[in-house]
Amino acid sequence: MKGYMLIGGKRVFKKEEIEIHFPYDGSLVGTIPRGDEKDAQLAVEAAKIGFEKVKRMTAYERFRALERAARIISRRAQEFAELLTLEVGKTIKEAMGEVGRAVNTLTLSAEEAKRVLGEEVRFDAAPGISGKLGFYRRVPLGVIGCITPFNFPLNLTCHKVGPALAAGNAVVIKPSENTSLTVIKLAEVLIEAGFPPEAVNVITGYGEEVGDALVRNPEVRMITFTGSVETGKIIMSRGGLKKYVMELGSNAGVYVDRDQKERLKEVAEKIARGGFALAGQVCISVQRVFVHTELFNDFLKEVRAFTKTLKVGDPREETTDVGPVIDKGAADRIMEWIEEAVCRGAEIVCGGKRLSDTLIEPTIVKNVPRNAKLFRGEVFGPVIVVNEVSSLEEAIEGVNDSPYGLQAGIFTNDLKGALKFADEVECGGIMVNEIPTFRVDQMPYGGVKESGIGREGPKFAVEEMTEIKTICFDMN
Ligand code: NAP
Repeated sequence: MKGYMLIGGKRVFKKEEIEIHFPYDGSLVGTIPRGDEKDAQLAVEAAKIGFEKVKRMTAYERFRALERAARIISRRAQEFAELLTLEVGKTIKEAMGEVGRAVNTLTLSAEEAKRVLGEEVRFDAAPGISGKLGFYRRVPLGVIGCITPFNFPLNLTCHKVGPALAAGNAVVIKPSENTSLTVIKLAEVLIEAGFPPEAVNVITGYGEEVGDALVRNPEVRMITFTGSVETGKIIMSRGGLKKYVMELGSNAGVYVDRDQKERLKEVAEKIARGGFALAGQVCISVQRVFVHTELFNDFLKEVRAFTKTLKVGDPREETTDVGPVIDKGAADRIMEWIEEAVCRGAEIVCGGKRLSDTLIEPTIVKNVPRNAKLFRGEVFGPVIVVNEVSSLEEAIEGVNDSPYGLQAGIFTNDLKGALKFADEVECGGIMVNEIPTFRVDQMPYGGVKESGIGREGPKFAVEEMTEIKTICFDMN
């Protein structure tokens, strides 16, 4: 597929192109233009015109267009899923799951279009003030730059574009260079569904080039970014005075309490699924598991047994559970991190082998020292760390011993313990008797510490993507 940029509704091609490869075998999937600063500028100019048009659409018109877009994607689910598999390398089962979620995210955004609300302000609650009447309204920001990662190109782009359009903004999207073709299709669907072509722009190319130009553009009023901490910090240091939402990385921790013996098999299976879904390339993948000493060996037995049943291979096959990671460079780094942990004294429980340039066996590593990269960093690969702890307090301390704080989980029957964990763990979301990988698209989602700033979930994203205007009438 020959990709193109979408600027003001026009397809823009360039002489210089970037190739997109299927992560499983390196075959060519398509090309995208290598956009530059001028393209970013043109897209922002188009979006300014788009903004004037979207903000004049009624709430009902925006609702209808988003709802229609959801229906179109639902109808074309197979086509979107197949492209996701080719670009991301996720299994076809995972790809169908992502399409379903994207349909839901757009539907939720459509509903939010009807609820962009303010409220009355009691001016007479200040001493000496009377005869004033007023309220505040939520108004759109203008042009919003949406920068998205490779792992969920469809649903995570919907999480930005859906609420942005629902609230009356226009967007310029810069997708990951690995997974831009899916995003181009999404933008075309939004235009087909009724949004002005100038309001939905896509620029493609390298983050450091066209992405950087978008970030630096002073007419872009907000950057909503999902990606790594490193890129997030660069963006915030270069973008100047604008709003930012940062949905960044993590190394999610989960605690298995001593009272989980009876359902250890079920818990171990959930944890393995949470660690190996999308080959561990989910921002809330289970990475660090803390197990109470009394259950440590039994847990390892169960999690190893389940992991051995996972089928690794071609993501296009219905029976595959774990596909490749995004590229050879990512696989090289993941293997280095496993080796480094082993050199520092960790032990491999299962997996640990590389099956091809991009395929890595689902790997469990135990007793990983706290100074190993596998404990400290975000591995973003099919690797789970299992460490022993002797109390809830030690587990809380271990989960918090991380620069990140996106989501965490605890499996326990102890209500007070669960509440203590929820109170004391520094994360944006706490899952009780569930893995930290659990997310539904309407919930407030986002991190603390280096995991980010702001929240997604259409209701919360609409708040981020609007500003408050106060209107006061003197009635005296
Ligand atoms: P990434 O390397 O940070 O890239 C994300 C996006 O930023 C890409 O579109 C990239 O473009 C662009 N970019 C890179 N440098 C830029 C710059 N200087 N200015 C503007 N844009 C720039 O992340 P990734 O590898 O695609 O995704 C994996 C990361 O995303 C992980 O850390 C994961 O945890 C995080 N993530 C977080 C969430 C969440 O909701 N918290 C969800 C999913 C993923 P190029 O691709 O062209 O470089």
